Amino acid sequence: MALRITNLRMSVEQPETELPKRIARRLKLSAPEVLRWRILRKSLDARSRSDLQFVYSTIVELHNEPACLKRLEMDGDIATYLPESFDDPDSGKQTLSSRPIVVGSGPAGLLAGYYLARRGYRPLIIERGQAVKDRVPVLRAFDRHEADHQNENNYLFGEGGAGAFSDGKLTCRMTGADVDWVLEAFVECGGRSSIMYEHRPHLGSNKLPMICRNFRRKIEALGGEYKFGCRLESLDVRDGSMAGLHTSSGYIPATHVVLGIGHSARDTYEMLHAAGIPFQQKAFQLGLRIEQPQAQVDQWKYGRDQYRELLGAADYTLVAKGQRDLYSFCMCAGGVAIPSISEPNQFCTNGMSNSRHDTPFANSGLMITLEPNEFGSDHPLAGVELQRRYEAIAFELGKRDYLSPIQWARDFVVGRTSSSDQVLPSSYQRGTVNADLQAVLPPAVIHAIRAGLPIMDKRWRGRFLENATLIGPEMRGSSPVRIDRDRTTRQVPGLVGMYPVGEGAGYAGGIISAAVDGLRSAREIVRQFAPLSA
Ligand SMILES: Cc1cc2nc3c(=O)[nH]c(=O)nc-3n(C[C@H](O)[C@H](O)[C@H](O)COP(=O)(O)OP(=O)(O)OC[C@H]3O[C@@H](n4cnc5c(N)ncnc54)[C@H](O)[C@@H]3O)c2cc1C
Repeated sequence: MALRITNLRMSVEQPETELPKRIARRLKLSAPEVLRWRILRKSLDARSRSDLQFVYSTIVELHNEPACLKRLEMDGDIATYLPESFDDPDSGKQTLSSRPIVVGSGPAGLLAGYYLARRGYRPLIIERGQAVKDRVPVLRAFDRHEADHQNENNYLFGEGGAGAFSDGKLTCRMTGADVDWVLEAFVECGGRSSIMYEHRPHLGSNKLPMICRNFRRKIEALGGEYKFGCRLESLDVRDGSMAGLHTSSGYIPATHVVLGIGHSARDTYEMLHAAGIPFQQKAFQLGLRIEQPQAQVDQWKYGRDQYRELLGAADYTLVAKGQRDLYSFCMCAGGVAIPSISEPNQFCTNGMSNSRHDTPFANSGLMITLEPNEFGSDHPLAGVELQRRYEAIAFELGKRDYLSPIQWARDFVVGRTSSSDQVLPSSYQRGTVNADLQAVLPPAVIHAIRAGLPIMDKRWRGRFLENATLIGPEMRGSSPVRIDRDRTTRQVPGLVGMYPVGEGAGYAGGIISAAVDGLRSAREIVRQFAPLSA
């Protein structure tokens, strides 16, 4: 038995080494009487800018927990700790006629592959893009304006998927044993151990490529395999069951396929839809990305300079309630704005930041949720077409050269194009073009952003829009489709052996939720089938 202590508060200026003493004091014990302790959660309470505090939940083991609990029964912050156990089933008895195939090496495919490999199923992971080390120079050359967009290697495609150059925030609405298992896997593959308990863990875009590579090495060491430059092109279905995959590298026998293609593989969506895979329209997020000087955000959140040194670049979360809510999304403190495109002649943005958060820019998506009845058609892929339409407009505004349309935020609010002879500040490296951003999103979304921005600005007493620019559109906040799957078997109804997972299938909205979704489908394969003999 262990105890959980919640609401342990320490000033951010106090060193964490003081924590054991605080725990002992709270339990009215001497320090040696606390046998073991660990942090379960750590969050920042920034409500009082003159007294920022870390708030901890900890787990402790003592010689006699029941006695301690009885003695402190009036203290509502101390309770028995009952960990949720991880569902790690015995392998099933049915025989697999071919090794499980994972399509896509983003977080969903990666964690499905990792779990299968650890359980002895020697998965084959196929990935349309290249290994992460080969992706990096392609992206750098694009950003420096030394190369054009590449269809198969970009910020979205290639080893690690969109996750590899994401911001690496590991926040997720879910909690529980599956989330903890995924976080532990990230730690095993090179993530900081504190991601296990931080309230808003962040790995940083500079660390993710190394973590993806470490996952691959472990999967390969366990008998799994990767095939890069291998794009799924069509399905071989026989009598309602998966039989194989036609890929850009040839035919692969495949009776059990974890499909983790992400939400930007529009060509693959089209192929799957034509093959009769059932899709539903789904609400998705879209909007613009705001950039402000990071120092302005730090000043707003911390007030005092020494907090900046102690806590690093400040982030924010904002919601402007209105007829339609406008909310901040994927805020990247000390980060850079990047292109988030998978198809040629399209343009949209996103953001990332390194673990040091060391650029002078803060950037954040400002999003609205668009409902299926606003897509303008009943076709299951209408949301994808809508994205394409507006991304094509943005590409034209960006001089057909992947430059980002940009506007002062205050000009956008009043519908004024920012003066064309002024270069506006932005971290978007490839270059920007002053433009009227109202063309890059549906009118209802523009209207809602215009209504929401002044509300956010008022909350920051005029500092939110000060020196702020907008770029966009931001279109890839979430998937505009969902692929049908059975709740229990996690397979497509009527297609045995097809397990759609992650963001592209419409069941996740970030790194951790995608990873957990992949893990859960891999687990169903394990529950049903025996591992392949070597
Ligand atoms: C710039 C940016 C920043 C982000 N920041 C964060 C963040 O800080 N925190 C967070 O939680 N989320 C963030 N996200 C979102 C997060 O990256 C995604 O939610 C997550 O990567 C989805 O995982 P996935 O595995 O479902 O799909 P993806 O990561 O999109 O992976 C899909 C993979 O499938 C491959 N593929 C596609 N089609 C085929 C095919 N036909 N054949 C073979 N392979 C194929 C692709 O190449 C890709 O590697 C960010 C996204 C971006 C773009």
